[in-house]
Amino acid sequence: MKKHYLLTPGPTPIPPEVALKEALPILHHRTSEFAAIYKDVAEGLKYVFQTENEVYTVASSGTGAMEIAVTNLLSSGDEVIVASCGNFGDRWIKIAEGYGAKVISVSVEWGKVVKPAEIEKALKANPNIKAVYTTFTETSTGVVNDIKAIGEIVSKTNAVLVVDTVSGLAGQEFRTDDWKVDVVVSGSQKGFMLAPGLAFITLSDKAWKLTESSKIPKFYFDIKKYKKSYGSNKTPFTPPVTLIVALQESLRLIKEKGLENMWNDYKLLAKAARAGMKALGLKLFGEVPCNVVTSACVPAEIGDKIVKTLREKYGVSIAGGQGDLKGKIIRFAHMGYIGKADLLVGFACLEMVLTELGVNIEKGKAVAAAEEELLLERP
Ligand SMILES: *Cc1c(COP(=O)(O)O)cnc(C)c1O
Repeated sequence: MKKHYLLTPGPTPIPPEVALKEALPILHHRTSEFAAIYKDVAEGLKYVFQTENEVYTVASSGTGAMEIAVTNLLSSGDEVIVASCGNFGDRWIKIAEGYGAKVISVSVEWGKVVKPAEIEKALKANPNIKAVYTTFTETSTGVVNDIKAIGEIVSKTNAVLVVDTVSGLAGQEFRTDDWKVDVVVSGSQKGFMLAPGLAFITLSDKAWKLTESSKIPKFYFDIKKYKKSYGSNKTPFTPPVTLIVALQESLRLIKEKGLENMWNDYKLLAKAARAGMKALGLKLFGEVPCNVVTSACVPAEIGDKIVKTLREKYGVSIAGGQGDLKGKIIRFAHMGYIGKADLLVGFACLEMVLTELGVNIEKGKAVAAAEEELLLERP
């Protein structure tokens, strides 16, 4: 018998109230009961996205919504800018190029944040740019980009701004409308505290105009189909009924807690996680650390071993590095249903694993440093 602790930046653990909903009998998706749930969910999503526009729910992982944001806005040969600072930013390049777009990359080294001024320069130099694609919290490195500043720049041009918030939404302040973001994509298995399997996307009027001229072939991911059935609280195809029923519950929990309170909670967890890493002598990785995942540098020879031993011996799943960062960093997530006690479990086990692997650390130091930060919340 093994107890599992998910401290990974997706999937994340889910609250028992939500898990119970996933166990209910299947509702038929053409019933009035389901329509009422779908309507409630649509309203709840607008709140989390901080938008007045419709938010569509699609059956796929987060990447499916990224694909929608490419295939529904562009035609082959269109010029786009991608501002990437990690693995998920690079995914925009792969999808856009995969569908024949001409990508102008203003990417930065992994660990850095994208430069709004570089985006502005690229937009000026290339007046035909249709869209700028970037990432809010770059989960692979643990940084957060200044989407508000980028929104100011892109909104003054003919291009639309498309942002991947799969890991950051509900975890860190993000305002679709106020920050002038045209297209926002997200997914169910991170901040939304739900099982994997749902993707979300919202589009501004400016983005809808682009969909009119888009010529990339599509069928299941044709966003117009979702818009058409949205008004009657339906989905164009059989939706993952179970996940949508559970989403209603997780959205209820988010509303009950309040988005701003959630943002504050993860901010505190992030501070505690950073303090814990530093107390172990692990250098934090990333230029501007985000609030939903903390990355720290580890000796390359033991990077993979730390992750493996934590999982196999203690049942604690954390993430290692991706791509060139493989083995070089570890990542602790503090998003969704991950709380203070989970973080302390993570650090206690990390201390044991580091000791077992021969790293000279003082046991209890990371836990104590994290506790200090968490206690600052004292009334
Ligand atoms: C998790 C994640 C995704 C999507 O991954 P899926 O596995 O397709 O759900 C995209 N972008 C970011 C920033 C992510 O963290």
